[in-house]
Amino acid sequence: MATLSASRGSTGGVPVSAQGGRRLDLNLDADELATCVACGLCLPHCPTYRVSGEEGQSPRGRIALMREVAKGAAITDEFVDHMDSCIQCRGCETACPADVPFGKLMEETREAMVSGARYQPLWRRLGYRLLGAPRTLRTLSALAALAQRLGLLPRRLNLPHLPLRRGKVPLGSPTGGGEAVWLFTGCVMDAWMRDTHVSTARVIALAGGEVMLPGPRAACCGALAIHAGLRGDAKRLALRTMDAMPGQAPILVNSAGCGAALKAYGELIATPSAEAFSRRVKDIHSWLAPRMSLLPATVAAEPEVVAVQDPCHLRHVQRAHLPVREVLSQFAVVVELDDEGLCCGAGGAYSLLRPAEAAAVRERKLAAIRRSGAAKVVSANPGCALHLAAAGVNVTHPLDLLAKRLEETP
Ligand code: SF4
Ligand code: SF4
Repeated sequence: MATLSASRGSTGGVPVSAQGGRRLDLNLDADELATCVACGLCLPHCPTYRVSGEEGQSPRGRIALMREVAKGAAITDEFVDHMDSCIQCRGCETACPADVPFGKLMEETREAMVSGARYQPLWRRLGYRLLGAPRTLRTLSALAALAQRLGLLPRRLNLPHLPLRRGKVPLGSPTGGGEAVWLFTGCVMDAWMRDTHVSTARVIALAGGEVMLPGPRAACCGALAIHAGLRGDAKRLALRTMDAMPGQAPILVNSAGCGAALKAYGELIATPSAEAFSRRVKDIHSWLAPRMSLLPATVAAEPEVVAVQDPCHLRHVQRAHLPVREVLSQFAVVVELDDEGLCCGAGGAYSLLRPAEAAAVRERKLAAIRRSGAAKVVSANPGCALHLAAAGVNVTHPLDLLAKRLEETP
């Protein structure tokens, strides 16, 4: 048998044969796998295909490879690499006329690879485990921030500018008696971008909400673990998060990736309580858009011009990117990028694990930002914001921008 290969410009019939490799039961639903009709309409929406031009780096090519392995072909390093190089942006899902559940197929494939192909080495697993240990994460972040100031942190680690101090998130509301809401704070975002939580809590309070925080039990939503194929770790984190935010109050999330993960607990845990939990989750912009009239008027002689970068997990997964514009348009001039929401290359841990590909994908986003003419970009996902900021983009969270405008308005 030949190796699983990814031929440039082929039409989905990725040739497969065995070279003494192992077989792997992918545990994929045959009907779901069969839904792809190889039309190729997803290809222009796939960032890894756009930068590589290789069929094996496209949704159609990856599905073809999954099918061959599901039929009994031996897995190869190349197969593993084509699965690992997927950013899991799910731009292919919104483009697909056949409703192929690509995200689910990829998550299940990676889960099988973890158990049967030594896919996640120990150092990666330990890194994902760290996300569920907020105290350790905060301590390491503080040490890394100090090392950064002293010039001791190697540049190749590609870390963003880390904060030495973290602000305190204001609880409750100034007047009391508002709508009780949970603000999900997460792991890396809480350690590295606490100021955005402070801004978000202030805006929520002004819009009639009474903020509650989940505490350290809800340290990580499990998004990175599930993307890595570590479903058991993701389930443990999900159960902790559910425990930390009991009751019926809405759960507001200002990170697109975390919001998508929390909304998927119903499928991940598959219990009525997990489904009920997921129904309470709202992206902060969806909650805020109908309450904008409750905020003090933000009057500006010259509203700021901002380009909107849609995080994939807001646009393609939650499909809740329009409320961001509803919120922003009340106090800023919104400029659309002309790339139809193509991924920026951040992809959770992708930009750390595959920096060259992530940077190549980002180049397309940077070109779209330049074409827009906007000097500032807003992004509702910390990973995207950090990835763009690392390339010199002036990027901020929509809630930081709104909180600043509210502060400046007399
Ligand atoms: S658009 Fe859908 S059906 Fe067409 S090739 Fe892509 S995944 Fe398959
Ligand atoms: S999830 Fe994104 S990177 Fe992966 S195949 Fe689909 S479009 Fe391409």
